[in-house]
Amino acid sequence: MLSSSYVGRFAPSPSGPLHFGSLVCALTSFLDARVHNGTWLVRIEDIDPPREDPKHIKTILNQLERHGLHWDKNVIYQSERQTQYQLALDGLSTRKLIFACECSRARLRQSGGVYDGRCRERQISFSDSAIRLKVPQTYLYDRVKIFDRIFGEYCQHLASDTGDFVLKRRDGLFSYQFASVVDDQFQGVTHIVRGGDLLESAPRQVYLQNCLGYKNLDYAHIPLVKNKHGQKLSKQNQSKPAQVNRASSNLWAALAWLNQKPPQSIYGAPVTDILSWAKSNWRLQHIREKVKQMGS
Ligand SMILES: [Zn+2]
Repeated sequence: MLSSSYVGRFAPSPSGPLHFGSLVCALTSFLDARVHNGTWLVRIEDIDPPREDPKHIKTILNQLERHGLHWDKNVIYQSERQTQYQLALDGLSTRKLIFACECSRARLRQSGGVYDGRCRERQISFSDSAIRLKVPQTYLYDRVKIFDRIFGEYCQHLASDTGDFVLKRRDGLFSYQFASVVDDQFQGVTHIVRGGDLLESAPRQVYLQNCLGYKNLDYAHIPLVKNKHGQKLSKQNQSKPAQVNRASSNLWAALAWLNQKPPQSIYGAPVTDILSWAKSNWRLQHIREKVKQMGS
């Protein structure tokens, strides 16, 4: 089905260069947008400076280009969008959907990561406090269900799975959940294709979209690439950067990993040829099959 209203995006954080796992995500999101005749955007999620280094931004963009993953429109940077996040937060404040929380880290740890609502009715000043979104405490109304195009139906009861969650941290930084929802709306994103570690974030983001009066999006989460020790590839465990001088074989390997069954005959072909084969032969269904195999 062709739909020119499709807008997809890839949203890396500059905590390191792209590794094979993040290349798989970028490629999947790119191809899904292109086979739908859609727009594909890049957004740099640089809102957590302690965990990032701006030098990686240039590297990541260069890695994308050298792998033929050319984006549409200008790259946007979350570090430049603080005013917009604050406006969205103010809107929620006017509607009394958020509250300030001054619980200590130790106290939060004791409650096992699910917030117990302690500060909800306390009148704490918003400055220098964490800001949380109220989640309905009624079991029936806190249920958020998404239909993921790869993983299928996925449901959370927010009250028991996350509790009231953080939109702005005590140190003044906006949370990933909040900034990405505001930006997806701002960029007109319709389809999210990203790593499977973010599947558990999707219900919170859907709930946030509802609170902010935004449209819900279409989701596809990609199974995680793991190393031989069964760990997720990440910048934290020093996974190797995807080498730009191996772009062609990286793409072939990524397609093979995605169960797209690229033929040996295109191994080593120019990047544009690999991508054009991939566009003509792209089947999300093959990733679903891989997920089933992994689960059995
Ligand atoms: Zn609290």
